[in-house]
Amino acid sequence: MKYIEPHAHMVSRVTDDYLKLTMAGCQAVCEPAFWAGFDRSSVAGFYDYFCQLTEHEPKRAAKFGLPHFCWLCINPKESEDLKLAEEVIEIIPKFLDRPNVLGIGEIGLNKNSRNELKVLELHVDLAARHDQLILVHTPHLEDKLKGTRLIRDVLKNDKRIRPERVIIDHVEEHTIELVLDAGMWAGMTLYPESKCTPARAIDMVERYGPERLWMNSACDWGISDPLAVPKTALEMKKRGHAPEPIEKLVFQNPAGFLRQCAKFRLS
Ligand SMILES: [Zn+2]
Repeated sequence: MKYIEPHAHMVSRVTDDYLKLTMAGCQAVCEPAFWAGFDRSSVAGFYDYFCQLTEHEPKRAAKFGLPHFCWLCINPKESEDLKLAEEVIEIIPKFLDRPNVLGIGEIGLNKNSRNELKVLELHVDLAARHDQLILVHTPHLEDKLKGTRLIRDVLKNDKRIRPERVIIDHVEEHTIELVLDAGMWAGMTLYPESKCTPARAIDMVERYGPERLWMNSACDWGISDPLAVPKTALEMKKRGHAPEPIEKLVFQNPAGFLRQCAKFRLS
C-alpha cells in the first residue's frame, strides 16, 4: 500500500517512527507548525523551530528516502500574545521560499477568542499576499462547531482566498458538511482517544464520499499513532472497500491537494 501522511508532528517522534512510516508504504510526510506542549518565550524560539522544520527534519526523513514537507505559522494556542504573534508572522516570509515549505498552517482557532481571531486574519492575509496554500486547525469538543463556522467566514470574507487551496483539519461528523459545502478540503484526524477514530472516519467516507477528503494521524508529543492512516486503510479493506477508493483517499487525494504547491514532489 502506498499512502501520504499529510499531517504529522515529526519533531516530537523518535527516528524509529520514520522507519515504521517508510515500511508501511509512506511516500511523503508533511508537518504543520504546532504548539510544542509549552509556550515559547520569544520570536527566537519560533525562528529556531522554523529552522528545525525546514533544515533538520527533512534531513532526518531523507535518511529513509522519505520526502519531508512543512507548513509555517504561529499556532492558535500561542496567539493570545498579539505582539509576539505579529513578530512571528513578520519572520515567516524569510522561510517561504525554502524548498520543503508548502504553505501557512496549522492556523485556526483554539478557544475562539478575539485575539486568536485577529491572528487568524493576519495569517490569511499573509497567505493571500504570498499566494500560499492554507492548512487549518479547528478547536476541540464544544468549541469546534462555532470555531469552524468562524474560520469558514474569515476565509470566505477574504476574496483573494480560493477555497480549493484550503484544507480544514480535524473535522468531525457535525463539521464535515459545512467545510465541504464551502468548497474547501476536509481532513480527518485519527486519534486513539479524541478527535476521530478509524471507525468514525470510515463512516464519514461512506456517508459523504471520498472527494476533497484526506486522513492523517497528526502524531505529536501526546498519545497518538504514527501508523493510524495505513491501519485505517486496512480497516476499510476489512469493511469491503475496493483497493482503488482506498488508494484515492490515502494517496491520490492528499497528492492532488498538495500538488497545488509546485514544490510538492514525490521521489
Ligand atoms: Zn497538528
